[in-house]
Amino acid sequence: MVKEIEIVCQPGQQEDQTALKKLSASALNISPQKISAVKILKRSIDARGRKVVYRMHVQVFIDEIYVPETFTVNYPDVKTAKPVIIIGAGPAGLFAALRCIEMGLKPIILERGKDVKQRRRDLANINKQGLVNPESNYCFGEGGAGTYSDGKLYTRSTKRGDVNAVLKTFVAHGATEDILIDARPHIGTNKLPQIITSIKDSILNAGGEVQFDAKVSALLVEFGKIKGVQLALGEKLFADAVILATGHSARDIFEMLHRQQILIEPKPFALGVRIEHPQEIIDQAQYHCEHRGPDLPPSYYNLVEQVDDRGVFSFCMCPGGIIAPCATDMDEIVVNGWSPSKRNNPFANSGTVVQVNLEDVAGGDDPLKMLRFQREIEQLAFKAGGGKLVAPAQRMIDFAENRLSANLPVNSYLPGTKSVELREILPARINERLRRALPVFGRKMKGYYTNEAILVGVESRTSSPVKILRDKETLQHPQVIGLFPCGEGAGYAGGIISAAIDGINCATAVKNLLS
Ligand SMILES: Cc1cc2nc3c(=O)[nH]c(=O)nc-3n(C[C@H](O)[C@H](O)[C@H](O)COP(=O)(O)OP(=O)(O)OC[C@H]3O[C@@H](n4cnc5c(N)ncnc54)[C@H](O)[C@@H]3O)c2cc1C
Repeated sequence: MVKEIEIVCQPGQQEDQTALKKLSASALNISPQKISAVKILKRSIDARGRKVVYRMHVQVFIDEIYVPETFTVNYPDVKTAKPVIIIGAGPAGLFAALRCIEMGLKPIILERGKDVKQRRRDLANINKQGLVNPESNYCFGEGGAGTYSDGKLYTRSTKRGDVNAVLKTFVAHGATEDILIDARPHIGTNKLPQIITSIKDSILNAGGEVQFDAKVSALLVEFGKIKGVQLALGEKLFADAVILATGHSARDIFEMLHRQQILIEPKPFALGVRIEHPQEIIDQAQYHCEHRGPDLPPSYYNLVEQVDDRGVFSFCMCPGGIIAPCATDMDEIVVNGWSPSKRNNPFANSGTVVQVNLEDVAGGDDPLKMLRFQREIEQLAFKAGGGKLVAPAQRMIDFAENRLSANLPVNSYLPGTKSVELREILPARINERLRRALPVFGRKMKGYYTNEAILVGVESRTSSPVKILRDKETLQHPQVIGLFPCGEGAGYAGGIISAAIDGINCATAVKNLLS
């Protein structure tokens, strides 16, 4: 017999079968010997009370053998099937490719960047020398922005598709099964590259294609129908369906669409800074203790406050993380955050941002106005840092009290930080709201409002500054049959899981068109 129950256990017991059997037996009023296994279905940390506990939803196997689920993939051969061009090898492009294969179509992925191995060298140049390769960086290359992302896999877009199917695909390609049960699943930057390579191998083994250094520079459109694409080096490739999954940083793609008179719209996005604290401060606040100890993971937070009718909110929080230089051009600063699977760095960071609406930015309905605004702020940050990706930064209370920091705390941003008044970079309406929100956050979370925390500018690639239009039913561009705008860059996803789901949905829509 198998029974589903809720149990609560102490930190340290969450993976201990003997302890879980005892707790389950006591909840069911039976002998622990009758239980062959306790399978965890969901697991979350509850830090609301004075004592932190794990809450679990479990299946208890009573007088019954437990056979663990296996996660494997078995894709059909599509070498000679109908081709579908997919531009971009981020989560949207890769999951679109896997779905194409499942449906008997041959994906041809065109990726401007390099494979994971070669890309690593370009990331070392960014971190050590402050040099950005515009084709290979934290945003561009195999796996897209997802490869060296943090790999947090929670999402709010559960209605758009099967989140569990995406998580199981990650597990089948090497992710730990913990992501299937944890309330806040996380892979970690060190583990993502192997998983991405394994997904690529699945695509290649099934007869799909993945081309690197293959930057698309034009769409081939005839009489309102897609015919294929042209690469920057001149080669043309042909297909009746093109999935455009180029991410939020492919500014040349937005400019190309505008030039080719393919409808795009300006899109609001959020702008602000990355804030970093010593992890210990966050743990003390969230776990109400002096030291976290070995049985609890580094803690996270989620903060939001309305200031003058606009939300100021924390975003992409990385416990035990690093602030990453995510620019895609030589003359700009863009920050983001990641953490390794163990989250064992001594810092906690999060984007802390304010929404920028269309009416905040001059330029009427110019579809590229938000992109230009975003670029201007990033370039201002670059100049303020003095070059080589040195980022402008300020201590938290100094920022809130409009004072230049006399010095900066040790922090995780590798190219280096320079003390600058961030109000010289951030537009006044963003700066003011951030300034006023921080002490309020400090009242919500003990220890948060401190000069030990550093604000690093600028967190500007929170989502795409452009929306590429598409029909709600067919997912095709309203002017171009066979063109499927997809993922975060097109404005239909925000994060790894939602981008993957959008890729799956676009591939399904391609099948509908081609059958
Ligand atoms: C440091 C960092 C940490 C992050 N942490 C998280 C996290 O913890 N959880 C989470 O959910 N999300 C996180 N994200 C965001 C997440 O990575 C993105 O939301 C996701 O990757 C978007 O997927 P996508 O496929 O739509 O686009 P992308 O991943 O941006 O992929 C687009 C791909 O298209 C390619 N491309 C662009 N232009 C062209 C062209 N002209 N020709 C050919 N190819 C082109 C690019 O090189 C890129 O590989 C993080 C991002 C960063 C940078």
